[in-house]
Amino acid sequence: MAAREGTMAQIPRESVEQVLQATDIVDLVGSYIQLKRAGSTFKANCPFHTEKTPSFTVNPGMQRYHCFGCGAGGDAISFVREYENLPFTEAVRKLAGRAGIVLKEEADDPFAEEKRKRRGRLLDLHREAAKYFHEKLMRDPAAAHAREYLKSRGYGAEMAKRWLVGWMPANEREFLEWVRSKKFTGRELCASGMAKMNDERNPRAGLWAGLFRDRLMFPVCNELGDVIAFSGRQLKEDKRSGKYVNSPETPVFKKSQVLFGLDRAKKPMLKEKAAVLCEGQLDAIACHEAGVEHAVGVQGTAFTREQARKLRRYTEQVLICFDGDRAGLEKAESAFKELAAEGLTVRVVELPAGDDPDVFLKRDGVEAFRELLDKAKDFFDFKLARARLLGAFDTAAGKAGLLTDCAETLSLISDGSAQEVQINVVATYLQTSSTVLRDEIRKLKANPRRRVREEKVEERGPVVAPTSVHRIVRYLCHLALRSSAAQGFLGEQSETLHEAAPWIEGVQLLEGVLGAAPDPGSPAAVNAYLAGVPEGDRKALTEGIDELSDTVDGLREAEEALEILSGVALQRRDAAIKAEMGQPGLSRERMVELLEQAKEVTRLLRGMDKRFVFNDEIAPSTYKAKEPEWKKKWREKNG
Ligand code: ZN
Repeated sequence: MAAREGTMAQIPRESVEQVLQATDIVDLVGSYIQLKRAGSTFKANCPFHTEKTPSFTVNPGMQRYHCFGCGAGGDAISFVREYENLPFTEAVRKLAGRAGIVLKEEADDPFAEEKRKRRGRLLDLHREAAKYFHEKLMRDPAAAHAREYLKSRGYGAEMAKRWLVGWMPANEREFLEWVRSKKFTGRELCASGMAKMNDERNPRAGLWAGLFRDRLMFPVCNELGDVIAFSGRQLKEDKRSGKYVNSPETPVFKKSQVLFGLDRAKKPMLKEKAAVLCEGQLDAIACHEAGVEHAVGVQGTAFTREQARKLRRYTEQVLICFDGDRAGLEKAESAFKELAAEGLTVRVVELPAGDDPDVFLKRDGVEAFRELLDKAKDFFDFKLARARLLGAFDTAAGKAGLLTDCAETLSLISDGSAQEVQINVVATYLQTSSTVLRDEIRKLKANPRRRVREEKVEERGPVVAPTSVHRIVRYLCHLALRSSAAQGFLGEQSETLHEAAPWIEGVQLLEGVLGAAPDPGSPAAVNAYLAGVPEGDRKALTEGIDELSDTVDGLREAEEALEILSGVALQRRDAAIKAEMGQPGLSRERMVELLEQAKEVTRLLRGMDKRFVFNDEIAPSTYKAKEPEWKKKWREKNG
């Protein structure tokens, strides 16, 4: 077998198989996105590209998914990898954890093992700490003022329980003792960002855990609900530090990727067909507590492209619900740019000046709030109506400034028809023609400085090309992976395959499949095998595998396809011999050799069933004519 290129470096195939065995892909995918039954498969709007009609299919029989729109496809592990942007091993661990399986890991990469352990410990520490803080808030007499504060915001114990709100003691010693009693080390505590060394050069100088001292603690979760950070609300006014402080970035917390409340909001977003984007976590909590459960919070930091991408997986429409002040407007504008660039429709909820969602909900109630959501304005309507009110339309200079400003924002809308609509909206407001705006946009697009910025956002890892493989070989691979009879038969044909290998691309892939011989009756075994081969091989092997009919007669097809394979190999060999004989300056010995070979090939070709002797380039009709309908489809897909 070819080198495994790290994809399975630490997890043996048996474990991967065990994890896949314990995971039902319909359950798994269904826990992320809404699936609809369609015959023997399930359908959904693809979470990996924007679409209006579902082309994403989950096949429970094969335990695989496939998108006919963007070509995404794979098994449960690939889904988690793609969806959560995790490396292979992390995705397997996540699924193992979900299924309650303890992974036997090969310790051949102590470094990766160490990293994984550290990450696991960090999540444990966050989870335990959240519980500890919560207990403190609920029971500690010293936390009376924290409970009082919550009450003043209109919340009781129920809300605190639901969101696991907590309190960090004013005396940090208390917290540090708890950490010690739970057997977490100082190093782990520092890695979590909840403490720092008093003196980097002197470990004996002890730890400082004052970052969250005497603060109300809001656990921040990732999409799956693991606590990965905290946000602390000041309880006693202290000008030296902020009203809110957040955990610093850690191996488990990347600020730019997290949206507060997304773990709870993702399902409601599907139902409501929109997301409500708030500024802070208290606003998001206020929405949820009032029953507006498709709300998430940005948490003070600037809204990022990664966050826009996360939202796009669940919805096509975002209702920005920021504070009704100038700063809120600016933040809405920058959020719009990221959202529109990801193809999302953006509307802006107009809160009365000075309000935030929390204040508004408490005062006017959820009915009035829902009405505001319904009346949310298209972004440019909102922006330009606001600008007119502020007098920007009164001077020529003001209008010219607005035109450039709008052109820049318009240029970021990735959906062409949406852009066209918005161009007309803006042109009407500015009483100019849409041509003027389009020219302006074109000028901006030509500006190389901007292009660089756009490209940077698109940065991704290197794309591995699929290994080159002849379609007959691919077909044989699919048969070997789907039919026990085919696999058994092909397993005995190593000589034929060996002879064909120098002439046909990808035979070594088939040999790999036959060597590993994953049980075709077990989707988990097949998927575990596929997960273990290098990425290029995997791409080549899985392309079109979903197209193969379940009712195929594996043995007969394999016999036939192997004949074709031999035929193609012979013809290519024949062509190579003739080409060499045509070369000038051949030695007599070589010429004799070639003539011998040519005779041999001719004899072999004559011995073959005429149906199978064909040349791709010259006579593909031989093959096509006797093709059943499904195979023709399969071949077209696999061209
Ligand atoms: Zn897709």
